[in-house]
Amino acid sequence: MTLNIEAIRKDFPILQTSMRGKPLVYLDTAASAQKPRAVIDAMSDFYRNHYANIHRGVYRLSAEATRRYEATRGRVARFIGAPDEREVIFVRNATEAINLVARSWGEEEIGPGDEIVVTTMEHHANIVPWQMLAEKRGAILRVAAISDEGELDEDDLVRLLGPKTRLLAFTEVSNALGTINPVARLAAIARERGITTLVDGAQAVPHHPVDVAALGCDFYAFSGHKLFGPSGAGVLWGRLPLLDAMPPFLGGGDMIESVSFEGTTFAPVPQKFEAGTPDIASVIGLGAAIDYLDSIGMDRIAEYEHALLLHATDRLREIPGLRIVGTARHKAAVLSFVLDGVHPHDIGTLLDTEGIAIRAGHHCAQPLMKRMGVAATARASLSFYNTREEIDHLAAALRKTREIFC
Ligand code: PMP
Repeated sequence: MTLNIEAIRKDFPILQTSMRGKPLVYLDTAASAQKPRAVIDAMSDFYRNHYANIHRGVYRLSAEATRRYEATRGRVARFIGAPDEREVIFVRNATEAINLVARSWGEEEIGPGDEIVVTTMEHHANIVPWQMLAEKRGAILRVAAISDEGELDEDDLVRLLGPKTRLLAFTEVSNALGTINPVARLAAIARERGITTLVDGAQAVPHHPVDVAALGCDFYAFSGHKLFGPSGAGVLWGRLPLLDAMPPFLGGGDMIESVSFEGTTFAPVPQKFEAGTPDIASVIGLGAAIDYLDSIGMDRIAEYEHALLLHATDRLREIPGLRIVGTARHKAAVLSFVLDGVHPHDIGTLLDTEGIAIRAGHHCAQPLMKRMGVAATARASLSFYNTREEIDHLAAALRKTREIFC
């Protein structure tokens, strides 16, 4: 199973451009993915030819916009293996999806003395909402340890799951280390103990097939912009009985059944959680991104990226003074590293002069950086549109960086 990378790269207009007079080498897909023409065209076509607000107009244009928006819900459901498309809630991004659960489910279900368990490798988006909830409700946040390699310490996690634990919230793939967590196993352990699970899938959906039913979790959150779709559309998936029982997160238009000054009744899910005019065009764009990915195949993408990760790991390991941070056995195509004597920001700035875009910083995972004993790392995150030649170019530029600084 090989991918026609040359053809794939032509699908992404930005990959044909130059940066600082050099061909762009985009290695920051974990921050946000580049967009294929299919997505750009679908959004432009929607704005040019089909735009209207949804769920309200009796006229044809609005009915058509509604049909396209709702059809995307079905596409997303199929893409992530959701048993029922009503379980797909459109939000802005993974952050909003997690906050929705923290506010709506959490404020009902979490009480004084209850415990929420997260892991050390979480993105701030899967820490801060739970801290805020714990503070508000008098609950306790517990944190499962990880190893020096950046693997979850499953024994420690199981030890933390006690009679007071109400929620286990963890990432499927670490944005800073690339570690892939055993979601199905962890969800089963939680389920046996009656603990609800939320999985942060922001870095998982772009890399490999995801089937939420097979994973056995209760909530799954991700952002469309990391899945080659536009910014502004993300997804919360939740089990229907849970969503049905949850109160709305935001109140307003489009989420009601009837309103009077005596009281309001709410629409069923998913509308109950989609108050106000959503980012309609971005949802349409997300649908186009999913169609595009389906046309390549997430299995093939995962296989290609794995080979690319192995190649990149070998190339970077050859560089004197470079240390890869995060060497879990199961990894997605994310490489965090530090270079002796060079600050990650300086690495990023120097690579930029070569047209190479990488991320440098704490990656919105400050507790994780502390655990790994670094203030920041440089991070190259790969995708199926990257090539071995780009990795070799990165390695050469890193050697040059080292020579300049050391
Ligand atoms: N979780 C993880 C693991 C992430 O990598 C990110 C984005 N870096 C988020 C959550 C938050 O995503 P967004 O900013 O799109 O809400």
